[in-house]
Amino acid sequence: MKIAELFFSIQGEGRLLGVPSAFVRTTGCPLRCVWCDSDYTSWHPQGQTMTVGQILSRLAEFPTRYVVVTGGEPLIAAGIEELCAGLRAHGYHITIETAGVVFKDVACDLASVSPKLSNSIPFAREGGRWAQRHDQLRLQLEVIQAFIDHSDYQLKFVLSRAEDIAEVQAILGSLRGVDPAKVLLMPQGTHREELDQRGAWLVELCKQQGFRYCPRLHIELFGNRRGT
Ligand code: SF4
Repeated sequence: MKIAELFFSIQGEGRLLGVPSAFVRTTGCPLRCVWCDSDYTSWHPQGQTMTVGQILSRLAEFPTRYVVVTGGEPLIAAGIEELCAGLRAHGYHITIETAGVVFKDVACDLASVSPKLSNSIPFAREGGRWAQRHDQLRLQLEVIQAFIDHSDYQLKFVLSRAEDIAEVQAILGSLRGVDPAKVLLMPQGTHREELDQRGAWLVELCKQQGFRYCPRLHIELFGNRRGT
């Protein structure tokens, strides 16, 4: 598998916030979010080839049973089924961080699905050449529904402005059986100042809407750095 990085940190987002976790970050993504914070897996993918056995050996060095498989988009990575089966066989708790544009029924304890709103469309990058393709692919309701139906899940939405809540509501209205307690709203930002600024209105929105506020704890603690 092509792996961008493999490291031990704390989970910075979602309902396992703060849990010491090992991260396996695959490289490659079919989307190109304008604010992507891991360009080295999407706009400019990098990585080294590792076998599942090598990945499991590295993970054994870390004192945790929580593994986060992330990307990029991990569900398009060749060998993802084998990796998740290996993690299950070794007794790990598996979180899969996905944009929810591809469904695969792999071993998973928590599907952390982050459907992309229109604020992610890259009009302002590389002359907008990815904008149309990104926009056509970014929202796959039947894929999101499959995660809801097959796994324990959380839906994590990234908001740039308060008006984005209308898109969140439209998406939730098109899905069946969503538990509002599993809906998280996260401020868009890769710097503490941006997160503080957006967090101020987003907290109020969460209070009004009854959804959970999702900080980006790794950015607050470490800044936007690889390996954290
Ligand atoms: S889905 Fe994730 S990895 Fe892919 S471009 Fe968007 S933010 Fe980056």
